[in-house]
Amino acid sequence: MKPADPARLSLNTITTKKWTLAQAIEGCARHGIRGITVWRDRLQEMGVSAAVQSIKAHGLAVTGLCRGGMFPAPDAVGRKAAIDDNLRAIEEAQALGASCLILVVGGLPAGSKDIAGAREQVRDGIAAILPHAKAAKVPLAIEPLHPMQAADRACINTLGQALDVCDLLDPGKTGALGVAVDVYHVWWDPQLEAQIARAGKARLLAHHICDWLVPTKDLAFDRGMMGDGIIDLPRIRALVEGAGYAGYSEVEIFSEPDWWQRDPDQVLRIMKERYATCC
Ligand code: ZN
Repeated sequence: MKPADPARLSLNTITTKKWTLAQAIEGCARHGIRGITVWRDRLQEMGVSAAVQSIKAHGLAVTGLCRGGMFPAPDAVGRKAAIDDNLRAIEEAQALGASCLILVVGGLPAGSKDIAGAREQVRDGIAAILPHAKAAKVPLAIEPLHPMQAADRACINTLGQALDVCDLLDPGKTGALGVAVDVYHVWWDPQLEAQIARAGKARLLAHHICDWLVPTKDLAFDRGMMGDGIIDLPRIRALVEGAGYAGYSEVEIFSEPDWWQRDPDQVLRIMKERYATCC
């Protein structure tokens, strides 16, 4: 298997949560990291045009915008507001030249126990924004989340489910709709290999890396650095690259107890080392 290519390492800026976007851009440049995935709250804080200028000046590739999605809502007004917010996210992703807009699709609307209904709302939501994404040339990447987050973050929980939505809404595999393979969410899936192969180059839009700690102390905010947990990272990278994915490996670590507390420069140094040795 080919060693991990340092030119294809990307920082998801949630990993260095302490930093503003301006600091993260400068940090990537300082550490020779060529890709960056941007969160919208930090983008708004910096301003879209200032961010675009700085990212360009530092020669970084924007490997994603986090995030769109969150489609289900208790009523039509709420669903419309979600669509409008996704349309703004598409505009931002277009301005940044992002390689995709990440969709964390949303869970159950408040008070609901109808997960099938929530999934239908997700399909309707993606269908509503897809023409806009196509026109803006911003591919939409559905990110299946681990089933422990089905209620509150995403009712699409496997790659198979995500690809069913892709096949339904984009049967021609135009490149406008695909998936983000986040190892944290999919490592356990017995269908992983088959579904990555099914996705193929046309649907593989992003590869997110970190590690699964044993024990995990928090369902959302206790992700590990690559090499500190039990995910077979080289195997998953080999699967996505074997299926034709030629994009970046993006380090995305939500870690309240550990990595968010550290000096972000130290985090970037360790992340580069681990990418070279564990991924
Ligand atoms: Zn992710």
